[in-house]
Amino acid sequence: MPRPLLVMKFGGTSVGSASAIRGAADLVARRADTHRLAVVVSAMSRVTDLILSTLEAAERGDAALVDEGIGRLRSTHEAACRALVPPGRASRVLDQIEGILDRLARVARGMLLLRERPPRAVDDAAPTGERLSALLLAETLRESGIPAANVAGSALIVTDATVGGAKPFLEETAENCGAVLGPLLAEGSVPVITGYGAAARDGTPTTLGRGGSDFSAAIIAASLQADELWIWTDVDGILSCDPRIAPEARLLREVTYNEAAELAYNGAKVLHPRTLAPLADRRIPVRIRNSFRPAGPGTRITGRHTERPGVRAITSLSQVALVSIEATGLSLYGAQLMARALAVAARAQVEVLLMTRSSFRQNFCMLVRSGDVEPVVEGLREDLAIELAHGYMLPIAVDHSVGLLAAVGEGMRGTPGLAGRLFTALSERNVNIIAIAQGSSELTIAIVVNATDLRTSVSAIHSECGLGRPASTPAAH
Ligand code: ASP
Ligand code: MG
Repeated sequence: MPRPLLVMKFGGTSVGSASAIRGAADLVARRADTHRLAVVVSAMSRVTDLILSTLEAAERGDAALVDEGIGRLRSTHEAACRALVPPGRASRVLDQIEGILDRLARVARGMLLLRERPPRAVDDAAPTGERLSALLLAETLRESGIPAANVAGSALIVTDATVGGAKPFLEETAENCGAVLGPLLAEGSVPVITGYGAAARDGTPTTLGRGGSDFSAAIIAASLQADELWIWTDVDGILSCDPRIAPEARLLREVTYNEAAELAYNGAKVLHPRTLAPLADRRIPVRIRNSFRPAGPGTRITGRHTERPGVRAITSLSQVALVSIEATGLSLYGAQLMARALAVAARAQVEVLLMTRSSFRQNFCMLVRSGDVEPVVEGLREDLAIELAHGYMLPIAVDHSVGLLAAVGEGMRGTPGLAGRLFTALSERNVNIIAIAQGSSELTIAIVVNATDLRTSVSAIHSECGLGRPASTPAAH
């Protein structure tokens, strides 16, 4: 029997400094005797933001800011390199850092010259941070006697050509993973793979979108048929609520794929929402663990769990807006209007978080992220131009002053009267409910309230559902 195969992913803070990288290398080393290991990394924290803002500065023609950006990237990674790699070997690694930054500098210079920021070039340069962090982690592993090999995510993950957040093709990716990672794993070497970046079939660089390195790790774990995926991050796992809103929030030891996906989708920051699909299909368990407190149990995500059914966690999203569409009479078909509105959202690649409709008046609303309002409203005005111009419809209205909260839990169906209890808890605090939605899977009840009521609502529902730590038990350490 080969040793079990474990994929470990390290997030930005978990490789965010020389000491964090050393900690990450220790966590890998600890499993090296018992497991076959593949590692996926994010860029050091805030590095991707800096790269993207440097490219924006290049487009504006701000050469000084471009130099400053690249200078800051250089000094961050050089300092980490000097702290991690002994002087005799550091100069070779410093050269490699310079080579990686050169590629970024070339892209930025092109943009400076053209005053243009072609999306393809952005996708090529954006995973620069991952190239740097993967280099540093692999070097650190070698320092501790673990054979490690740098592998570019773009050599493994094949995607469509969508700019800024491409869709992976799993079969081709699995072939690449077998061909490239198979031999490394067989010889006991640890591949250290750059997250976030991928490539289209013709080799054009793509990315999996912001925060996409979780997804990279999931795709690779699925492709390798790994026994488990561990996501190392800077929080203890998935909590019953944001502890800044409800300090009594509890760590959830187990959640299902469905629950975790709903939580991520509705605002929980621990996981990228797209992460779980390839893992759930293959029943690969995921653990979310804190690399700064590795003794903690973390949260385990699997197909089913033994906890009591009902609400498990409350999440919220404050950066959302309600787009309302209303016909003036009954001459337009509601279903057709909704279909057109959804088609507009789909073309703009915008996620509709929630949609509700009144039964008689031809009025419905869609909840979208604040950043998505503009493309959706523009698209709607274009698509409905004739109806709007002839007064068949009221002008499209946007309400930014709303927030979304979601109560999530497998088997809420088994708890009758739950919705009523939630509404009562809100009305007792004078919270006005603007819209509600519950899917027939009864995994999530989503409620739209005024943005100013969001925090109160979340903590009211968290306590109504009895999700906090009992007051008498001291917090676990
Ligand atoms: N570094 C990328 C980002 O900041 C990907 C990731 O960290 O997941 O979006
Ligand atoms: Mg991340």
